[in-house]
Amino acid sequence: MTINLRDLPSVDQLLQTPRLQGRILHYGRPLVVQALRFALDEARAAAKTGADLPPRDVLLARAEHLLEAWTRPSLRPVINATGVILHTNLGRAPLSQPALEAMTAAAQAYSTLEFDLVSGKRGSRSVHVEGLLTRLTGAEAALVVNNNAGAVLLALSTLARGKKVAIARSQLVEIGGSFRLPDVMKQSGAKLLEVGTTNKVRISDYQEAIAQGAAVILRAHHSNFKIIGFTEEPTLADLAALAHRHGLPLIDDLGSGTLLDTATFGLGHEPMVQESLAAGADLVCFSGDKLLGGPQAGIVVGRVELVNRLKKHPLARALRADKLCLAALHATLLHYLKDEATSRIPVWRMISMSAEQVRGRAEAWRSRLGRGEVVRAESTVGGGSLPEEVLPTFVLALDVKHLNRFLKRLREADPPVIARVADDRVLLDPRTVLPEQEESLLTILQTLLLETFGVGAQIDEQA
Ligand SMILES: *Cc1c(COP(=O)(O)O)cnc(C)c1O
Repeated sequence: MTINLRDLPSVDQLLQTPRLQGRILHYGRPLVVQALRFALDEARAAAKTGADLPPRDVLLARAEHLLEAWTRPSLRPVINATGVILHTNLGRAPLSQPALEAMTAAAQAYSTLEFDLVSGKRGSRSVHVEGLLTRLTGAEAALVVNNNAGAVLLALSTLARGKKVAIARSQLVEIGGSFRLPDVMKQSGAKLLEVGTTNKVRISDYQEAIAQGAAVILRAHHSNFKIIGFTEEPTLADLAALAHRHGLPLIDDLGSGTLLDTATFGLGHEPMVQESLAAGADLVCFSGDKLLGGPQAGIVVGRVELVNRLKKHPLARALRADKLCLAALHATLLHYLKDEATSRIPVWRMISMSAEQVRGRAEAWRSRLGRGEVVRAESTVGGGSLPEEVLPTFVLALDVKHLNRFLKRLREADPPVIARVADDRVLLDPRTVLPEQEESLLTILQTLLLETFGVGAQIDEQA
């Protein structure tokens, strides 16, 4: 039996296929041609090693698969059923509807990004959110950069380049692998002056550091870990008083930071931006996309003369926030001003959802799917905030035979579903599933369960 490669259709012949006409409209002819060539080359190579020539349908299907694979973005929306509200790997904070609309509006047309409508002259991009930030926090001035790592880098580069910065040993944190405070300090040109021990630092340790020439005091929030037991750290007010007695600035890196008190929702108390300023911090740095619930951004608020120095530093240009970020941040901050944050900002809606409300959703999922068990569990805030703190929740727990295969199928769904596992069961926490994604999730689960347990399984109410 000999295989004649000439029996393979040509690219031109395949292009005539009615089935491909829609693809040509959708992907453009050159890309379809590339996919067909690729599929034909593969078939030729396989034939040389003894494989049969694929039928036309198989060639076309392969080309269609390639077109899909080549054009599908790898950055895709997913359904977060993990119960981790600020899931760093899943993009932290989803935005509110008004924030999305503000981004679209800023993206679609030209804007007043750096244009002053009153004078008709060049304006400043920093005006758009500064007013809201100072109003909400009580700060004299504000500045927004690309992210909080950038905010800390900019603050240290401006105020501490070539100088010594005193920081407690217990605060030399690493966040999410890529942000290590000592590395950021080194990058800024500041010299690290570690004070205290791992578990204890006293005001006298800072005094000693000032005697050794510290020019800036930095406090960093522990964020993602907790020190318990025999511990001590001076209050921020004590640190501020000490710094100011010596004419030094105090920078507070809050990490997440929050404008609302997390303790109101049964969580621990995450440090608030307003509190840091009131305690006397000269600059406070925090993230836009952690508990603030907005776009990725680094926000610096504090004393006007210091913020102005930061604004003039060349790094400020390199780290500046883009117009989409500023538009979304403005809309997010407005929710706080209008006292509607807990009802409009997705992360606060999730945090403020009661366990009973979550239970209601989990029960509805169970009766719709006819499978699983609604059990008590815990949601977490995540995003390097509130370690050890949990929100009581209810999850839908599914017993499936091939756990890893089932999880993989969930990830392969469109949109992909990310779940949690405990005791060999798949756990789905309604708290972090956006209401507009619920229908997709249930459809995906129904299909998968049907596949796993066979026809009729989905109406087995006792299961
Ligand atoms: C998260 C965090 C950062 C980094 O913030 P990004 O916005 O992710 O750049 C810096 N410092 C602390 C203490 C943090 O928790």
